[in-house]
Formats: sequence, structure tokens, C-alpha cells
Amino acid sequence: MNLILFGPPGSGKGTQAKLLEKRMGFRHLSTGDLLREAIEKDTSLGRKAKEYVDQGQLVPDGLIGSIVKIKLGDLHSECVNFLFDGYPRTLEQVKQLEMIFSDFSMGSYQVISLDVSDEEVIKRLSGRLSCPQCGSGYNLNYKKPEHSGMCDKCRSALVRRSDDTQETIRERLKVYHHQTKPVLDYFDKTGTLTRIPGESDEEIIFQSIKRAMKG
Ligand code: AMP
Repeated sequence: MNLILFGPPGSGKGTQAKLLEKRMGFRHLSTGDLLREAIEKDTSLGRKAKEYVDQGQLVPDGLIGSIVKIKLGDLHSECVNFLFDGYPRTLEQVKQLEMIFSDFSMGSYQVISLDVSDEEVIKRLSGRLSCPQCGSGYNLNYKKPEHSGMCDKCRSALVRRSDDTQETIRERLKVYHHQTKPVLDYFDKTGTLTRIPGESDEEIIFQSIKRAMKG
């Protein structure tokens, strides 16, 4: 069974995806991570995607479809269960995904949505910091590092994502409500969706996801 983790930016999809990968053997596929990697490496895809990501807008469906298809083309023969994080985000991407699933005979999927209020999203994203060296995450509003701006584990300087500015966070939320919410309604109608409250402790949310998973 493949899983789609759904929810607004900052709903904890990435955190839960890492736990699901580590504890349950899913192969985590985050379109946001793939785009940031391409931007970091300054590939032609990265250059095309950067202006959208920096402004909190969605990268065009065609570009996203190509990267997902290329990635799954490389990986689908590993016969693992995939965990999609941040994809699909438009109804057009749902069509792409269903075509890719059929082309690669990937079976079915289940959708789990993490419900988090806009207010909480803003609080989480505006305080988010991470360590580029060891990947540890911090939050100035919840889990501060011991020494300001420095990773507790490896002492590297912490960084803020370039799209975690107040203005871009508000834009990303707007985009979520206008362009991505219809995808949630679609999944609801097709009976593939389970909604989970996403504002509690990460372990409690993980257990709720596990309980919601079918087969
Ligand atoms: P994320 O890390 O999922 O919050 O994504 C960060 C940014 O990457 C988004 O604000 C978009 O600009 C872009 N992005 C990620 N996934 C998609 C997608 N499926 N469709 C379009 N743009 C995306």
C-alpha cells in the first residue's frame, strides 16, 4: 500500500514521513525536497523552479510531473511502498499520479491528511530552523536550541528555509486553500481519505496514522 501524506505547509508531513520511513520501511518521496536539491545543485530544473518556490507559488504541474516520473522510474522496481509528501497538490497532479501508478503498476494508495489551523502553521513555520549538517530540526516558538543559532548535536550554524518568511508563509497558505484544498475534497469523495488532528505530540500523531492505515 502506498501512502499520500496530505496537509498544509507546516502540518508535520515531513516529520511523520521520516518516522514512517524509519519504522515502517516506506520510501519517502517529497517533491519539496527534490526541488530544493535541484535548486541547491543549480540544475536547469532547479533554475526554473526557484522563482516559484521563493515566492510561495506552486511549480508548474508539467515540471513536477516530470520529476516524479523520473524518480519513480528509477525506484518503482525496488518493490517498496512509497510515501508521497507534498504531492499531489493540484487536481492536474492527481491525474498525473494516477497515470504514473497505472504505467508503473504501483497498485493503490491511501491518503492521510494532517489537520492543522492556519494560526498554528504560521507559528510553526515562522520559528522553524534546521541543521544543514545533521538534519536536526528546531523551532524558536517550541523547541529552541540550547545556544542561539547553533545545533545542539553537531554545533553547526542553523539555517532557516528561504521560503519560511512571514510574507511567503502567508502566500503558501493562500495557495494551499485555493489550489490544493480541492484535492482534499476529491480524495474525500473517492473514499481514500482519513483525516487526523495534527496539533498534538508527534508520537501521538504517528500512532493515529498507524491505526488509520489499512492493510
Ligand atoms: P514543501 O517542502 O512541500 O513545503 O514545498 C516547498 C515548495 O516547493 C512549495 O511552496 C512549492 O513552491 C514547491 N512544491 C513542492 N511540491 C510541489 C508540488 N507538488 N507542486 C508544485 N509545487 C511544489
